[in-house]
Amino acid sequence: MTNRIIDHDQDAGATSQRYHYTRVTEIHGHTVRARIQRGIYNNVNSGAVAEIRANGMSWSTLTAAGIDSWWYDTPKPSPDIDPAAVLGPLAEQLLCGAAEILASPPAMPTLSVHLYRAINGLLAISGGFTDEARIDPDDIAWAYAHGGALHIIEHPDGSVTFTKAHRDDCPFLTSAGARDCDDECDFPHPADTTHRSTS
Ligand SMILES: [Zn+2]
Repeated sequence: MTNRIIDHDQDAGATSQRYHYTRVTEIHGHTVRARIQRGIYNNVNSGAVAEIRANGMSWSTLTAAGIDSWWYDTPKPSPDIDPAAVLGPLAEQLLCGAAEILASPPAMPTLSVHLYRAINGLLAISGGFTDEARIDPDDIAWAYAHGGALHIIEHPDGSVTFTKAHRDDCPFLTSAGARDCDDECDFPHPADTTHRSTS
């Protein structure tokens, strides 16, 4: 593993209602923590995220583990639980995922007001002007694993292209939209390679 994770701090606690484990680290010069909480119910006080400290103040999510991928494999809350022992492996997994994200450019895309408004437009034209979409961690991972990487191209006329349709060295991308795709971008349909569980 080339991603170095330097431990800074950790915190753990357990009651009959919930237990939690937080591991604070440094990865590629960023402060990153894995924060996992296991409550009695899978939809209350339960979650597993890796977060990065932005601007020295707030934390924003880098990656998360879907509830289904870990919750059912962990014991019910009890003061006798050792959170570090139970949740440590998941924390490690989250931090490795975070390290991978931070190592792949662009590490931290920034969102201009124009891009924020463009995403507003994307949501509105795809699902209506009162559309709402909640994308869970499994969807995020699935989307990341299929098709091209997300590229956002801001055109000189103020329009914005969001695309996953091109390989990274396609002329359309390398010219930031000035040249056309060379028609050599081809991503196999997921149904032809893997079957996504829809449970
Ligand atoms: Zn292309």
